[in-house]
Amino acid sequence: MEQYREQPNALRALLRSMPKGADLHSHLSGAVYAEDYLKLSAQQGYCLHRSTLELQEPSRCKADPALLPTSELPNHVQLYSALLDRWSTRDVAAGGGSGHADFFGAFQGFSLLSSNPRLQGLMAASVANRAAAQSIHYLELMLTLNGDSVVQLGRQLGWNGDAKKLRQQLLTGGLDALVKQGREQIARIDADRAAALNCGSSSAQPGCRVTVRFLQQTKRTLAPAEVFAQLLYAFELAQRSEHVVGINLVGPEDHPIARRDYSLHMSMLAALRSHYPEVGIALHAGELTLNLVPPEEITFHIREAITIGGARRIGHGVSISYETNARELLALMANLKVLVELCLTSNAVILGIQNNDHPFLEYQQAGVPAALASDDEGVLRTDLTEQFVQAVRRYGLNYSQLKQLARNSLAYSFLPGQSLWTTVNNAKLNPSCAQHELGASSIGPSCSALLANSAKARLQWLLETDLQRFERQAVRELQPK
Ligand SMILES: [Zn+2]
Repeated sequence: MEQYREQPNALRALLRSMPKGADLHSHLSGAVYAEDYLKLSAQQGYCLHRSTLELQEPSRCKADPALLPTSELPNHVQLYSALLDRWSTRDVAAGGGSGHADFFGAFQGFSLLSSNPRLQGLMAASVANRAAAQSIHYLELMLTLNGDSVVQLGRQLGWNGDAKKLRQQLLTGGLDALVKQGREQIARIDADRAAALNCGSSSAQPGCRVTVRFLQQTKRTLAPAEVFAQLLYAFELAQRSEHVVGINLVGPEDHPIARRDYSLHMSMLAALRSHYPEVGIALHAGELTLNLVPPEEITFHIREAITIGGARRIGHGVSISYETNARELLALMANLKVLVELCLTSNAVILGIQNNDHPFLEYQQAGVPAALASDDEGVLRTDLTEQFVQAVRRYGLNYSQLKQLARNSLAYSFLPGQSLWTTVNNAKLNPSCAQHELGASSIGPSCSALLANSAKARLQWLLETDLQRFERQAVRELQPK
């Protein structure tokens, strides 16, 4: 790898096949490439308004000359290109600078498709295939199930400040039924994913090798009653569905409502989370710059997410050095083993933060566990491999540091079960497997038992096996002929 440090193309080729563990921060709707959305919409018979580029349901596509079936789009290259720009930050990435509005605007364009539960399994399948091609073992995809119905229920009951009482009222007032519905929905989405990939058959696609779980999202830009209902729903769903392993809060952190209610949302999490100790909490926090909010509002989001909201993982954390007592907060994250999900391309495109303006090295120096993540690889037109390349190119990481990031991504995943490692920095193996060479194919009974009982440890062992194979092959290929 050192040999390729100054050759980004060769480095990319090498790192593409490096086993990477997990992508822990990936929004399903944003992970799908515009080209894949177009394929889906063509298959389903959607059409597009020729001048506004607005997508229309198949039922509305007849007899209006202004509407073009999306299956026709490849014959209209200018429209096709304009649509790719609308549904992604492609034009921003080409021109440089910050794509905040462009990014959040993109989701509007394809929301008819991305919010359709009948398509979400197919979307997950395309994301899984892309992950497999990069030797990614595990995806924790964020999505929003039953969003509208839950929000509506919350609005009906209102917010009275009494979280305990409201929780009961929501559960008996219809939320419980929605959770049952959500459980069936996510099971169907996962079955659709497996079916689209032909998993379990002789024509299984590469994506079948990737384990997929989900995190239920809560939109943080809505009224307090609506946010509370969504949070409760997310906790309940994650507790009751094997497919959903945790929760997250989404929407621009600098949105006026998200800012006004930030501390309120954290206190809602504090009131709810004691009922659901097994549910993983990852929070977007510190996806901020001085340009986006007044200085006093950039000083507390990450700390409150951890100390009040109970976040075990922080998404982005870009504004860490602007927090009050930043050094102490970094030490706290290291001590509490709170992982930071570093989304380098996302931060560059959406926030305009890259290279040394990014606190990547501050996190490394403070010993905060970290993992690389893609955030929205489709909209941002990137992938996890590019994050690994940037970690080497921009922050000088060596191969063993990259391995550490890959190991972290599985160790800090919300997959159930004991970890293969007993220390934060993955330095000490679980005693059950300590007598074996890492990733060995034949193992004794105690290690077998650990892997059989822990979904997490199983993937961790697989990562080690794959790393061994990758390293042997890379060394062979790089030897002078
Ligand atoms: Zn995100």
